[in-house]
Amino acid sequence: MEKLADVWGYPSKILEASLRVLSRYQLCDRCLGRLFARLGRGLDNAERGRAIKVFLRMLSTNSEFSKKTLDSLQEGWLAPSEGRLEVCYVCGSKLDEIILELSDKAVKSLKESGIKVSSFLVGVKAGSDIEKRQNEVIGVLGLDTWESVRREVKRLVGKAITRELSLTPDFTNPDVIVVLDLTERKVELRIPPLILGGRYVKLGRFISQMPWIRSNGSRKYRLSIYEVCEDVLRAFNGAGLVLHAAGREDVDARALGDGRPLALEIKEATTKDFPQGEVKALELKREPWIHIVLNSKASREYVRLIKTAPARKTYRAVIFSSSKLSKDDLQKIESLSHQIISQRTPTRVLKRKKDIVRRRRVYEINATLISEHVIEVLLRVDGGLYVKEFVDGDDGRTTPSFSEVTGKPMRVVLLDVLEVEKIQSLKK
Ligand SMILES: [Zn+2]
Repeated sequence: MEKLADVWGYPSKILEASLRVLSRYQLCDRCLGRLFARLGRGLDNAERGRAIKVFLRMLSTNSEFSKKTLDSLQEGWLAPSEGRLEVCYVCGSKLDEIILELSDKAVKSLKESGIKVSSFLVGVKAGSDIEKRQNEVIGVLGLDTWESVRREVKRLVGKAITRELSLTPDFTNPDVIVVLDLTERKVELRIPPLILGGRYVKLGRFISQMPWIRSNGSRKYRLSIYEVCEDVLRAFNGAGLVLHAAGREDVDARALGDGRPLALEIKEATTKDFPQGEVKALELKREPWIHIVLNSKASREYVRLIKTAPARKTYRAVIFSSSKLSKDDLQKIESLSHQIISQRTPTRVLKRKKDIVRRRRVYEINATLISEHVIEVLLRVDGGLYVKEFVDGDDGRTTPSFSEVTGKPMRVVLLDVLEVEKIQSLKK
């Protein structure tokens, strides 16, 4: 036995709400139907609105409806030539026309843009008069069955684009965003940045991550990672570049092994094809110093993870001590494994960074005596630990430190990052 659903109370609630609205506002089929968009899958809002009007008209025979309400029930199926068509309070009876016009303009501008796209997203600017007036009507509706006019227009224009151009809607990483203006009836195409994920290996010292230009305009270092990344702009026809990296090594430290994770955000890329098939990565190089491998497209979430997900880092440090070192000193240094280091912001970066105390864990230390004054140390530590200060103590601002436990002043002369290991897996 079929039974009427009791989802929104009784079906009469829908009719009562419709009467409440229609006794105050003349609405076209579409604007009435939009108030019940969550009822009946696969229907168009104009069909919903019309069905309600038809049913209310059938009921009007034995009911007492005001003339205004009865007039409201005409709109939308009487042809204008019959002379009784009132304009819709919400859209001025223009919405169908606006949707058609915006669909045509969107299809046309995508065709003519010359941008190679396979996926798209439609957005509608907020704040149109239609939207404001619909909000007013929703105020007397008393049900939460409605959808916004922006959502309806997005959906209908999106369907037209898919139908005419065989493009796929993509809500997270579209190739192009089609922005619609309901008031001006305008279409604008926006190209979201293309984000590529990868890693960089820095085999030379005195190479900065970003170009370092002194106030007199001269360069402090001859090469930067960013400048090598800029080669990617040509490949994707981009207009600008943002480099996001998982931290930054000191200018005089190398980044070896697999290198440091990075994401490149390419603005206004008009080519978005990433190498497929056998060539699955893009390489950018400045021989013999910098190697960058970009291995896939990435999301905004990947950029966030790169910058915020905790990391562990493995370093190699060559350390000098002016006092002679013994096996006993090596043991004292290795005893710092598994300790928590308390570190105030190093003196050398105080100008740029706030003076705070950070606590970082040391996982493992292996020390080897190279000569009486030089040791080589491998350390695995939490990201964010300043290694140079962990060795020299920074006048007691880092504790414990190599200098503190051996009682011998020590300093790092060469530093390499061997591994940057993100604890959370980086989802592209
Ligand atoms: Zn309307």
